[in-house]
Amino acid sequence: MLKVHEINTYYDQSHILRDLSLGIEKGEVATLLGRNGAGKTTTVKSIMGIQPPRSGSITFNGVEISGMRPHKISKMGAGFVPEERRIFPSLTVLENLNFPVWGRGEEGWGIEKVYEFFPVLRSRSANKGSELSGGEQQMLAMARILRAKMDLILLDEPTEGLAPLLVRSIGTIIREIKNDRLTILLIEQNTRFASDVADRHHILYGGKIAFEGTNEVFVNSPEVQKKYLGV
Ligand code: ATP
Repeated sequence: MLKVHEINTYYDQSHILRDLSLGIEKGEVATLLGRNGAGKTTTVKSIMGIQPPRSGSITFNGVEISGMRPHKISKMGAGFVPEERRIFPSLTVLENLNFPVWGRGEEGWGIEKVYEFFPVLRSRSANKGSELSGGEQQMLAMARILRAKMDLILLDEPTEGLAPLLVRSIGTIIREIKNDRLTILLIEQNTRFASDVADRHHILYGGKIAFEGTNEVFVNSPEVQKKYLGV
C-alpha cells in the first residue's frame, strides 16, 4: 500500500534521511523505531508532504505522492496524528469530533463507536479542547482521524507521556483499527508497547532503515535492540 523508495530529506543543509526505503502492506501495524533524533518524525513528514523529500519516490495505493501537498495526500486516505496533538482548543470535544478532517468525504467511525472506544471523550464531550489533559487530547486527536475514512493512519508517539492505563487503551484502539482493515504506521519510543501491538518493525539509524523484520524476529533479537535502540 505504501512504498517509500530511496528518499532523501533535508532541513536546509542538514541531510536527515539518506536513501531511506520502506514498504507497508495493507492491514498491518508497522512501526518506526529509533533513538531520539533518528529521523522518525521526518520520515512521516516526508510521507505526508509536510517535509517533502528532495529525491526518491513515495507511492500510496499505487499513486506517486511525493511532491503532492499534504491536504491532497490526506484526501487520498492517509491520516496523520502528530506528536503535538492537533485539536481545536476553543471547540468542545463533540465539535472537534464533528469538524471535518481532510478526508475523502466518507464517514469513518461514528460518534457512538468513538465513545465506545474512547469512553473518556463521552464524559468530556461538552468540555473545550483546552480543558483536556494531555492524554485526553491524544485520544481526541486520534478519534478525529478515525472519524474520517482513512486507509493509512500515521501515529507519532501516541503513548508519549500517558499513564499506563491510557497506554493500554491506545493498544486496544490500535487493535480495533486493525480489525477494521486499516493500516497503521506507528512511531514509538516504547519498545514494549510497540512489540505488543505491531506486526512488523523498522528501525531507523543513520538516516536509513537499519533493521526491518517481523515482531517475532524483533523480540528475539536483543542484540539488534541493544545496538540501535540502546535497550
Ligand atoms: P524524536 O523521537 O526526538 O522526535 P525523531 O526520530 O522523530 O526523534 P526527527 O524529529 O525526525 O527525529 O529529527 C531528525 C533530525 O532532524 C534531528 O537531528 C533533528 O534535530 C533534526 N530536525 C528535526 N526537525 C527539524 C527542523 N524543523 N529544522 C532543522 N532540523 C530539524
